[in-house]
Amino acid sequence: MAKILKGAPVAAALCESLSGRAEELQKRGIVPTLAIVRVGERPDGLAYVRGAVKRCEQAKVAVRVFALPQDCSKRELLDVVRAVNDNPSIHGCLLLRPLLDKEAEQAACALLAPEKDVDGVTAASLAKVFTGSGEGFAPCTAQACLELLDYYGCELRGRRVTVIGRSLVVGRPVSMLLQRRDATVTMCHTKTTDLAAACRGADVIVAAAGRPNVVGKSHVAPGQTVVDVGINADEQGGLCGDVDFDAVEPVVAAISPVPGGVGTVTTAVLAQHVIEAAEKQAAKTV
Ligand code: NAP
Repeated sequence: MAKILKGAPVAAALCESLSGRAEELQKRGIVPTLAIVRVGERPDGLAYVRGAVKRCEQAKVAVRVFALPQDCSKRELLDVVRAVNDNPSIHGCLLLRPLLDKEAEQAACALLAPEKDVDGVTAASLAKVFTGSGEGFAPCTAQACLELLDYYGCELRGRRVTVIGRSLVVGRPVSMLLQRRDATVTMCHTKTTDLAAACRGADVIVAAAGRPNVVGKSHVAPGQTVVDVGINADEQGGLCGDVDFDAVEPVVAAISPVPGGVGTVTTAVLAQHVIEAAEKQAAKTV
């Protein structure tokens, strides 16, 4: 039976360490504050906002939600991002995607001040993920994968990690973060010719394809650790990951569940980034 890498204890440990840092800031009159900018009323977006607000409360991070109607203009959206950039009492901003349309979304991401970009959507943040220095933050989900592996003591140095997915949100940044930790990373995608072999040869698999059952029994081997990032709708209308959990769990050494795995840690990383952003801003004003 595999060890189940649940996200809840990872998030709780992160929040516990964060609330002390938030209290230190509050003693100096600074309330670490996250702005969430969202457009429309998509149920998955609203659910994410509820989860983020709850997690931020635990970490003593304040949240201000800027909710725009589905029929708002690109100009209204960009005005909100400008207002967030200009407001010194807001330390971090989450642009909840999808936003309006691709063009408006890209413009909003480009406009966001890198020092407030707590979910790694700006070019500056991605440059930081690649170079290890500069402004901005890694995308929360990519970092959440590493927090999960670290919490459960999964060694990364010198180990073979296969990442499925190459998006800028998860696959590519998580590959870079893993590489910086001295893992040997293989990044797979839809043109990979033998995904099963690439997975079987790994010590750790990170599945971020956004398709149910991309990883099945034929992809895994005993002793492996599997991190399932995917969030998909299953046939019963519930949530499932990218990994066929029932087929894979009996084979591998450890596996993260969906729901209750990486997604749970993502909001704690978001709170962590807001506190870091507030600390950096406070250091500049000393
Ligand atoms: P995405 O932009 O759709 O990218 C998916 C990537 O997976 C692409 O690079 C694609 O390859 C690759 N891929 C798709 N099907 C594949 C297959 N059958 N075999 C190999 N590679 C395949 O998705 P994303 O934004 O990265 O998100 C990935 C998943 O993570 C989604 O389920 C999303 O909901 C979830 N997610 C979870 C969280 C969280 O907090 N847990 C946060 C963000 C996203 P190509 O490049 O060749 O198309």
